[in-house]
Amino acid sequence: MDKAVGLDLGGTFIKAGLVNKEGKIIKKTQIPTKGEEGKREVVLRQMEKAIEFCIEGIEKENLAGIGIGTPGVVDNDGIVYGAPNLPEWDNLPLKDIFEKKYEVGVRVENDVNSITWGEYIYGAGKGCKNMICITLGTGVGGGIVIDGKLLRGSVYSAVEIGHITIDYKGPKCNCGNYGCIERFVGRDYIVERAVKAIKNGEKTLIYDLVDGKLENITPKIISEAYLKGDKLAEKIWIDVGECLGAMLTSLVNVFNPERIIIGGGISQAGKILFDTIERVIKERAMKKLSENLKILPAGLGTDAGIISGAALIFGK
Ligand SMILES: [Zn+2]
Repeated sequence: MDKAVGLDLGGTFIKAGLVNKEGKIIKKTQIPTKGEEGKREVVLRQMEKAIEFCIEGIEKENLAGIGIGTPGVVDNDGIVYGAPNLPEWDNLPLKDIFEKKYEVGVRVENDVNSITWGEYIYGAGKGCKNMICITLGTGVGGGIVIDGKLLRGSVYSAVEIGHITIDYKGPKCNCGNYGCIERFVGRDYIVERAVKAIKNGEKTLIYDLVDGKLENITPKIISEAYLKGDKLAEKIWIDVGECLGAMLTSLVNVFNPERIIIGGGISQAGKILFDTIERVIKERAMKKLSENLKILPAGLGTDAGIISGAALIFGK
């Protein structure tokens, strides 16, 4: 029972690996999800292929279980409700399906909850008891560990950090609410800040870096401009950091975490983003609740999804 399969189900790729108890990957694979074929069965078959690659040659008594991170809301019985980028991924008893098929324990979690747990067991959260993990990308995701337990809602995985309101009169978010943090610091909204400023006539290196093709602006380009001393790029990252810092201040005041762990593509903006978030939390959060707080980059790297899947099995 010293090995587990970790599977990270993405909209484009399935990543899976065989992982040992120390969180080290023994072997891994990446195959297309094939969601564009529009059929649940096709995606399930792809998942089976990935799992079978991992367990080939492994005696059943050595396999501790299969841990799966999936997009969507997952209830406590491992049933998935609604994932926007996967076909018919609703009301789907994922845990049951794979337990019957492979006759081992299966645990299914929302993908960001899974990453949070992986960071807690093997990554930047190792050794603490209370932490918040956020992932910054197209959207803003997150998970919370309190007293060594993943925080869940009454029935469903509940930690939708991206939809915390930071401006109740703010712009409409695609969740239906107004002024959610994601509406300010999601990937496209970061890019939109640069595009708007350029259209208003602001001089910036960002414009030169994309040869005037505004549709090619990415957060990475904005970071590149910042590192070359661009003022607009600096202003954008400070603003994004201040939004995040304000939102996280509320979470610090509510949960008093020891660590906040930040991952996802946007976190590559690095020092300026982390420094700003830390400054804002120091300025705004209640002193006692934030005095021992550490803000750290995520520690698991590109295979985080696989390692986290295994953490769902080993890290109970
Ligand atoms: Zn929202």
